[in-house]
Amino acid sequence: MYDKALSKRASLVFTNKIFAYALAVSEENASMGQVVTAPTCGASGVVPGVLRAMKEEYELVEKHILRGLAIAGLVGNLVKHNATISGAEAGCQAEVGTACSMAAAMATYFMGGSLDQIEYAAESAMEHHLGMTCDPVGGYVIIPCIERNAICAVRAVNTAVYCMSTDGKHTISFDEARKTMKETGKDMCSAYKETSDGGLAKYYDKILVGSEE
Ligand code: SF4
Repeated sequence: MYDKALSKRASLVFTNKIFAYALAVSEENASMGQVVTAPTCGASGVVPGVLRAMKEEYELVEKHILRGLAIAGLVGNLVKHNATISGAEAGCQAEVGTACSMAAAMATYFMGGSLDQIEYAAESAMEHHLGMTCDPVGGYVIIPCIERNAICAVRAVNTAVYCMSTDGKHTISFDEARKTMKETGKDMCSAYKETSDGGLAKYYDKILVGSEE
């Protein structure tokens, strides 16, 4: 993925680097290597993927990186303490949804966003993951998790770009999106909460059984 990124049109190099870096961290997690839980192991590729690619693209210095991480950490902690970051409790909206929210807020800061734009990015990234289920195939944090980290890392940057093109005013607050995520998670059937009893996990089993026949 990284090699391909270098051969892309200039406008796509950045996107493909985000994919490559997010995949690298998620693969490190899947191989039981060392990762930072941001906010969880399963969602650990999003924030580092965005951070590494933006560090290169925006030539970020340490001071900005630390502030960006502080913003991402603040968003993650707000969700952790006032809702949940557990896929077993509320589905993947709580894991990758929160990671996307953290990364979008951080990316908006790197782009020079105002506090309103940063909060908007955190809110919007969470809002558009509401209802996302957790259905790891075979109970392993591999499918759909690894690819999902890469896709959602790019989504975080795109969310930041979107919010930067506004004046930061928005209707739903981050706190309301966070509360909604918590309630949606409560209403979600257990098959979609890390049990691998539903969703892709169930469908993929069917494919495997079908191919053996
Ligand atoms: S699908 Fe489940 S296990 Fe995989 S990243 Fe999302 S919450 Fe974690």
